[in-house]
Amino acid sequence: MKHPYYVETPIKFNTSNGIGDCKTAPLERRYSNMKNMYLDENARQKLEDMSNDLVYTFYDLGVPEKDSELAYGTSIVYPGKVGNEFHMTNGHFHTILDTAEVYYCIAGYGMIMMENPEGEVMYKEMHPGQAVYVPGRYAHRSINLSNTETLITFYVFRSDAGHDYGSIKETGFRKLVVADGNGWKVICNPKWKE
Ligand code: MN
Repeated sequence: MKHPYYVETPIKFNTSNGIGDCKTAPLERRYSNMKNMYLDENARQKLEDMSNDLVYTFYDLGVPEKDSELAYGTSIVYPGKVGNEFHMTNGHFHTILDTAEVYYCIAGYGMIMMENPEGEVMYKEMHPGQAVYVPGRYAHRSINLSNTETLITFYVFRSDAGHDYGSIKETGFRKLVVADGNGWKVICNPKWKE
């Protein structure tokens, strides 16, 4: 009997740009999709008005949302800043809160920022070849810490975990990552609300 999962494997993900050789189109997030996600909303609005470039794209291969399945694909965050803040994904909790995820860095230089509802924060840098484990209960976002390179990660999570973007949109993450000279630093989010 044919397995109900219809995506043919193996699928090639290009290691220099993250593009997947698959039938599904990547999902795109531009400055216009990230209202109020950055500390400097005026800077974000200006970027939207000027070019509305892509901030990140990701491949969701449409694996059935069942607890027996694994969703996977690539996440591609382009280099850049909004104000002083590095390009990042919107970030989310999983709807089934206690479900984990793995990110494997293929190219670029970045970070996974994590926090749980109790306010515990973890952040892990990623270089190519390194994996980061996001435990259950932790909201997570990818941040591109390079000024020139695209951050490409490969992710895997339980397929029915779901995405809860709402609570992040309302409160943001507790910590932000901003440029500090040629590097970066983590600061408290002045806009974060309990
Ligand atoms: Mn996730």
